[in-house]
Amino acid sequence: MISLLDARRIISEKTQPLSPVEVPLAEARGRVLAQPLLADAFYPSGDRSTMDGYAVGTGNAPGKFLVTDELSAGSIPGRPLHPGEAIRIYTGALLPAGAVQVVPQELVHRENDAVTIKAFPENRFIRKKGSEAVPGACVLAAGTVLRATELAILAQLGVVKPKVIGLPRIQHLATGDELVRPEEIPTEGKIRDTNSILLAALLEKEGVKIQSRPIADDLDLLTAAAGLGGDLLLISGGASVGEYDFGQKALQKSGYTIHFDQVNLRPGKPLTFATRDTSLAFVIPGNPVSHFVCWQVAIRLALESLAGRVPSWNFLTLPVQHREILSSNPRETFWPATIHCIDGHLTATPLHWSTSGDTFSLAGVQALIHLPAHWQDDDPLQTLLLDLPNTL
Ligand code: AMP
Ligand code: MG
Repeated sequence: MISLLDARRIISEKTQPLSPVEVPLAEARGRVLAQPLLADAFYPSGDRSTMDGYAVGTGNAPGKFLVTDELSAGSIPGRPLHPGEAIRIYTGALLPAGAVQVVPQELVHRENDAVTIKAFPENRFIRKKGSEAVPGACVLAAGTVLRATELAILAQLGVVKPKVIGLPRIQHLATGDELVRPEEIPTEGKIRDTNSILLAALLEKEGVKIQSRPIADDLDLLTAAAGLGGDLLLISGGASVGEYDFGQKALQKSGYTIHFDQVNLRPGKPLTFATRDTSLAFVIPGNPVSHFVCWQVAIRLALESLAGRVPSWNFLTLPVQHREILSSNPRETFWPATIHCIDGHLTATPLHWSTSGDTFSLAGVQALIHLPAHWQDDDPLQTLLLDLPNTL
């Protein structure tokens, strides 16, 4: 049995980022930039006004100015400014030659073709050429996840087909003779498959769509299905050492090398990780809470590494309410919890969790409280935040 830390190290070492592909900008949200984005020009391209007002030149004292021209956003400056002159200017317009200052229209008095400026404000209301980026400056690093704001930056540079890391081809096999589809009524001894929708939804959040396939507890069937591979193979159930647990055997028979098959983790001890060339495979213990925890602490890391992303493995030291719910264990434990904002402070509250088969205990889960192995009641606790509460 290995520690979770070692398990995560092995997953990172064995996983290579997928090859880059080009995608249209409108489809790039959530994707990972494959190469740094460098500014192609000066931003802004020239000095621009940040206000609707009047541009004036150097060496002027406050007083009356003759308005000689007008510049709106998009227009090309023509006439330069001379002493005693002002040019009507609008937000975003390029400044005329000789301009050193824009005076907002709220601060002046306009009458016919003259404008009276009582005082020059300290702020010059100018976005200087290149003040935001100069040619060659890195505006987005490789590995950046493209969200709405980063897409806007790509648009600004005219990058309409960004190079992003490809999406993994993922196969999910839900093993178990006891499983029926959620729309079916389980007969005696059967249960509904909850892990397929759990994984599909978790993967969809990562931008990947999957089709799950049910597989009976049969070594040959599982071996044949596992052999089809993909970038990532996820086998639900059959991770342990029982007579009907065929996960590891099927992987071995289809050419995978097992790197670990037990992690000192609660829940999720029989989590198995294997590779075949660049293909990755996990056998995930079938219980829903184990599934969820294994996803959060191990499988997500594989997805992040395939995508060339920095792993989201951030623990916060939060106050924990109802610590009496928590129980210690020789295994490192990740305890499902909710997060609340109380008097401006984030607080974790453990959910009631009876067994790792208890799907209901996952309702509303937003975090996992980390209990080190052999944790003692008053030892400090850290919390892995999964979802921010909507109170923020
Ligand atoms: P296993 O890892 O196959 O030994 O399964 C452990 C437990 O998880 C058993 O009680 C299974 O019935 C249950 N289980 C396995 N797969 C699923 C699934 N897809 N949905 C819900 N429960 C499952
Ligand atoms: Mg099973």
